[in-house]
Amino acid sequence: MKIESLLVQGNSPHNNPYGAIVPPIFLASTYIQPAIGEEQDFAYSRGGNPTRNEVEDLLAQLEDAQYSYAFASGMAATSSVFSLLKQGDKVLLNNNIYGGTFRYLDQLFEQRGLAYQLVENFNQLSEEHFDPAVKLVFIETPSNPLLEVTDIKRICELAHQHGAIVAVDNTFLTAYLQKTLALGADIVTYSATKYLSGHADLIAGAVLTNDQVIGERLKIIQNTLGNILSPFDSYSLIRGIKTLAVRMDRQIENTHKVIAFLHSKAISVNFAGAHSKEEAAIQSAQAKGIGAVISFELPEEYDLAIFIQALKMFPLAVSLGGVESLICHPASMTHESYSKELQEKIGISDRLLRVAVGIEHSEDLITDLAQALVQAKGEK
Ligand SMILES: *Cc1c(COP(=O)(O)O)cnc(C)c1O
Repeated sequence: MKIESLLVQGNSPHNNPYGAIVPPIFLASTYIQPAIGEEQDFAYSRGGNPTRNEVEDLLAQLEDAQYSYAFASGMAATSSVFSLLKQGDKVLLNNNIYGGTFRYLDQLFEQRGLAYQLVENFNQLSEEHFDPAVKLVFIETPSNPLLEVTDIKRICELAHQHGAIVAVDNTFLTAYLQKTLALGADIVTYSATKYLSGHADLIAGAVLTNDQVIGERLKIIQNTLGNILSPFDSYSLIRGIKTLAVRMDRQIENTHKVIAFLHSKAISVNFAGAHSKEEAAIQSAQAKGIGAVISFELPEEYDLAIFIQALKMFPLAVSLGGVESLICHPASMTHESYSKELQEKIGISDRLLRVAVGIEHSEDLITDLAQALVQAKGEK
């Protein structure tokens, strides 16, 4: 089956007792054990739950992965990947990453005896970065909020030569657009809160791998930390995933139109592949589309606060990936865990805005942006 079909029919109705077309929600925390010493598929829901199994199995099919775990949030997924590390290990990451991932490095790494290095341009990552302590390279591509693109294949080859594994946070593109395990990554992680669920009504995460050692370890980590996705949310995530392809197609179409409109107003836009010819070539080689998150600096002639207030179709809110368009101010919202100096160094300015484009009619979105620009300029 192609991925568009798997999204919809990946869960077989034959897996449940009545053949219901959608999987049932099994709320039971515990299961009868037939006799002492005899085991069944399920014993206790932290260790395994039939509804969670369904969503884990669906995600595994989308990603062609052997091992798949659904977590209570994207951060639970990321922190479970970091739980694979031992004292003394070091992680390399691109320098603009999800704010919560940065908070983990900033707040918890030192006390856990871990080290990290933020690398300015991952496409220039070289041998010199790999001292023997480097055990994990953590890539977010396109990056957040600047949409810089990293060559996944190249980094994987380099990391593997130096005995490090690679994890990719594929939240922005999903397996529908970018198959990171096939590109050589050892682990793919998700905030399923975003595009996978797609309706801004659920917090979830996932980690997948084809490596047996990592896969078995993650199972122990999930059961031990207990940071599991609930049965109800597992069901909601399955429902969201069914429409991923149609949502994403429309969102990408709208995104191209919004970019063209902003360009027509002489506003330069960050999107996956926008930064250089090299990044554009990498993006088109490793992904099927640019996704639907963009960012731009509002030029000085516009009043930022008035622009935000004037928008009717872009509520000011963190998060992305839902059917509705959103706008956010990374410096004060998603990336406030970065120090001012680091924000400046990376290029997260006070005038940077990030837009997640939804599935509305593109003409309405553009009309709204146009009127807000007029208001923001008029009152300046
Ligand atoms: C939102 C997000 C996360 C964290 O996910 P939660 O579900 O909010 O915990 C991690 N990575 C990226 C790229 C994200 O956008």
